Amino acid sequence: MKVYISGLYSGTSPQPGIGLSRSLRIAYPDATLVGVEYSNRSSGIHWLGFDELWLQRPWEELDLPAYGQLITELLDGGALWISGTDLEALWLASVFPDGHANLLSPPAVGLSRITKPGVEAHKGLPLQIPPFVSTDLSDWDLHAFCRKYDWRVWLKGPYYEAVRTKSWDQFEAVRSALAKVWSTQRLFLQAHVSGYEESVMLAAYKGELLGCVSMRKRELTEDGKTWAGDVTEVPEAFAASLREIIRDINWSGGAELEMIRDPEDQRWLLEWNPRFPAWVHGATIAGCNLPAMLVEAATGIPAEKTTAQSEEFTRVVLEVPVRARYPLPPLPEPYAGGIGHSMKHPSGMPALAERLHKLHPHLMSASIQHGNGSNGNGAAEANGVAAIPPSFLHDLKAQDYDQLQTPSFLFMDTTAADLFDRAAKLAHRVSTPEMQVINGYSIKTNPDARLIKLALDSGFYAEAISLLEVQKALAVGFKPAQVILNGPGKWWPAGLLPKEPIHAVFCDSIADLNRVTAAAATGELQSKVFGVRLRTPHITSRFGIPLNTPEEFRALIDSVGLLPRDSTFGVHFHMASSNIGVRQWWHLYQSMLRWCSSIEKLTGRQIEVLDIGGGWFPDDWHEGREDDFTKAVKHAKATLPHVRQIISEPGKALAQPSMALAMRLLEIQEISDETTEAVVDGSIAELPMYFFYPHRILRRDNATGELQPLKRGKTRLMGRLCMEHDEVASNVELPEGTQPGDVLIFCDAGGYDRSMSYVFGRG
Ligand SMILES: *Cc1c(COP(=O)(O)O)cnc(C)c1O
Repeated sequence: MKVYISGLYSGTSPQPGIGLSRSLRIAYPDATLVGVEYSNRSSGIHWLGFDELWLQRPWEELDLPAYGQLITELLDGGALWISGTDLEALWLASVFPDGHANLLSPPAVGLSRITKPGVEAHKGLPLQIPPFVSTDLSDWDLHAFCRKYDWRVWLKGPYYEAVRTKSWDQFEAVRSALAKVWSTQRLFLQAHVSGYEESVMLAAYKGELLGCVSMRKRELTEDGKTWAGDVTEVPEAFAASLREIIRDINWSGGAELEMIRDPEDQRWLLEWNPRFPAWVHGATIAGCNLPAMLVEAATGIPAEKTTAQSEEFTRVVLEVPVRARYPLPPLPEPYAGGIGHSMKHPSGMPALAERLHKLHPHLMSASIQHGNGSNGNGAAEANGVAAIPPSFLHDLKAQDYDQLQTPSFLFMDTTAADLFDRAAKLAHRVSTPEMQVINGYSIKTNPDARLIKLALDSGFYAEAISLLEVQKALAVGFKPAQVILNGPGKWWPAGLLPKEPIHAVFCDSIADLNRVTAAAATGELQSKVFGVRLRTPHITSRFGIPLNTPEEFRALIDSVGLLPRDSTFGVHFHMASSNIGVRQWWHLYQSMLRWCSSIEKLTGRQIEVLDIGGGWFPDDWHEGREDDFTKAVKHAKATLPHVRQIISEPGKALAQPSMALAMRLLEIQEISDETTEAVVDGSIAELPMYFFYPHRILRRDNATGELQPLKRGKTRLMGRLCMEHDEVASNVELPEGTQPGDVLIFCDAGGYDRSMSYVFGRG
């Protein structure tokens, strides 16, 4: 008996070859085990358990048809082949579309049913698939997905690799790196599921399930790979469904279903790998030798018995002698700019992926259907184009572009008016006689007088973080009684405090509270509401009074006792859901309500005003969020029965869509068939939020005046500044006929882009 085994890499992210050799050696002591590799950097080639070594040229150089022919001859001659890598299995499936009796890996049909991330074949198993979206979606919609799942998301390649991306700039960097390594844009973004990792491994031959076994990871490496595990039987109900599926997809070979078990005991399927896992021998140690069962089924030759030694296994690190004929390769050259060198893919999988994309585009390009992850507003479209709200187009068409000096911010009248109007109506709708809901416009987000005026006209209060902002609000027409004062620097600059009572002041620290009580005692400061801002527990913040330790909490309780008794007491917290995510914001809100309830009990003061801050991404606040608001009010009422007023302080939810940035193309240069570089007269000085969220971009057709959204493509838009990181878009396509002088419009620039833009490079 001769068995060819591939996938010998034995580093921290190992392949199963060595485990396969160990398990088969027990079952067939006299078999000739041949290790197959494509790189002399795979340490497993030195494993003494292989009787022979078949070291091939690297994947990028292999003559694939000739190699396929060679393997056909081996199989026809009676040898067996167990593939230890996904992509080799995929390639073999293309060489043997209907399988081969001696090829112990799955046929093409089976493979097509286990494609990540949807894994069609899982139906019937008690497993769910974590929500995911294809990166075909527009950046706008991808960002929405990340917010929805609290930035606990994984960007995954189609075959290998998953990277947690915790912010937008990280997402963009990882996306371009993965797309390059795996020669595909077909990536997907999947929500993280918290829980413990477990797997089911199986072996099957010609559609018959030979055996399966469960393993829980008990120790993990830094990349989450198994280091130790425990092995148990698969419950019969699960095995029965698996048996049916295996028959249905006519599976041959090994497989591994990787899962997470969440705290509610629900299991989530991450991947169905078309090969045995690297821990295959761990199950053999527990007495379940699946490679042996597979070979026995294929050859009819009875395997020697495998005896169970332990239900638990662990890995160790072993030094082994290097085979004399295969001395260690020269040290790899450090790649430019890197530290050390990359041993990430010693088996050449990226090279194979690139070749397979060219050879078998149909095999490699199955499209990713979205898994209940789209952001719910129906805006998602393929080819990366985000929906542009009609009011944007209306407002942008009304601008006079011929006279326009660029770069320049465009104020979108009807869009802005509509946003404030909707916010006012919503507050009105969720208010009740006992519970008033009001908005305070956060001036710092964009202090443009037109927005402050809209806030005034829409019945908002003005939320200020400095006395200069208070003065601006008063200048636009607000009365002191409509002003809310917040933040750590609210007394700056001195001498600008209104003489009449303001609506509310929230103390940002104990020191601030002492100052406020002193100012209240002298009559210098008058306010209807005196309150405290709470520092969010467990989520890092520099603002508010902390309550993480009993000492801090006591200091807070004692200090609240100092606030003027004849005033209304309020509590404020602010943590941007645009950063921490929508789900997490709700957790925080609930937790804050409970803290408030404790504060009421311990201080004996009733909380009558609750200020829940701002920090909402526009789409998370407007469309279809009315129910959320109602829910928030209901929760507040249930936990804090004395609350009579809830203040929300939207800033960017209103300001961000209200302005766009117009810029002109200065120069367009084709670098290659693929890439184009264009220089614009705008820059990150006008779009400082470029790194934090995507902007929807339009190009204005100079001849027709038509506004076209930019699709995804291979053009980089570089800003006018002489700064390496001044790039305002990295993956767009300029429409046919675009020329220097044409106007590009970056929407969604009316929040911190506008207020934090700086003067730079203008002489
Ligand atoms: C900045 C700020 C807001 C508004 O935040 P956005 O992210 O612009 O919505 C609201 N309240 C306070 C106290 C703030 O400091």
